[in-house]
Amino acid sequence: MYKTISFLSIAIFYILSTPSTIVCGQNKIIDKKVMLHLVNKHKLAFTQGKVADYIPELGKANPKAVAFSITNENGETWSVGDNKQKFTIQSISKLIALMLAVEENGEEKVFTQMGYYGTHHPFNYFANLDHNGRPLNPMMNAGAIYTTSLIAGDADEPYQKILARIRYITNNPKIDINPTIYESEKATGYRNRGMFYLMKNYGMIEKEEEVLNNYFRQCSIEIDVEDLSKIAYFIANQGTRYDGDKTHYNKELMQLIQAQMLTAGMYEFSGEYARTIALPSKSGVGGGIIATVPNKIGIAVYNPSLDEHGNSLVGYLILKDFVQEYSLGIF
Ligand code: GLU
Repeated sequence: MYKTISFLSIAIFYILSTPSTIVCGQNKIIDKKVMLHLVNKHKLAFTQGKVADYIPELGKANPKAVAFSITNENGETWSVGDNKQKFTIQSISKLIALMLAVEENGEEKVFTQMGYYGTHHPFNYFANLDHNGRPLNPMMNAGAIYTTSLIAGDADEPYQKILARIRYITNNPKIDINPTIYESEKATGYRNRGMFYLMKNYGMIEKEEEVLNNYFRQCSIEIDVEDLSKIAYFIANQGTRYDGDKTHYNKELMQLIQAQMLTAGMYEFSGEYARTIALPSKSGVGGGIIATVPNKIGIAVYNPSLDEHGNSLVGYLILKDFVQEYSLGIF
């Protein structure tokens, strides 16, 4: 009896004192306490940024909400902060649209009328088009609108395919559109509409404006930071889902997507970002950023207060410290 009690107390002591850890390649151990520390260290930096309000409904986000999640090499997701907070995926959806457009048309066709360029202009700059009227890349709005136009299907079918793929990757059938944000984007998306008609003028897009609505819909898909870290894991691991499912395994395609993330995923800040963080990443004006550690882990951060480039400021600071702490950069 006495022996049983002392064995139990040793076991309980052991469980309580074991640090929360995640194995992360090269025998590095990521401590969940470090994740929490970084959230606390940077959460007040939201005061130096600004919540996007050019889409009026986005302006209602809570600027204090901060969340940080990683999906580790074993496919386990670890999160700290406001990890159940929902927000819209925005530009991060461009990765999924690119995935589908290339699967359906092949890389060559998708990039015949679009470049692999970076840019020094903001994401919604009118002339993110080259001298022939071709979009610079699929990460800025012009190229993303074009990319979505290449996904086959009438009415909202291309959007439904994007939604289905996001639900598959996250294994979360509850993910859906935020209809209020969609209406707000559609009602105020004059610049995007302008780019759409400019490309239509160049003969690049044959379909009518419903194609643009699909772009607005994909941006209005609502997720949380854990969903995002699973998307990052999927891309990092060549299309292997966090639970090991390989239905959409495609090494070539995920290499292309990560190359684009590195070149243009953080808009005109991408070059400096590649120097300071050195991970393929993609941000959205909803406040999310995803980063891939190729063949290893997926990372996601969230805070809706943005810097002048449209990237989450708190998210960037957390990522920068985290990547340095564990030497995760690819160079
Ligand atoms: N829906 C946003 C827009 O088209 C997405 C921009 C972004 O996240 O960068 O302006």
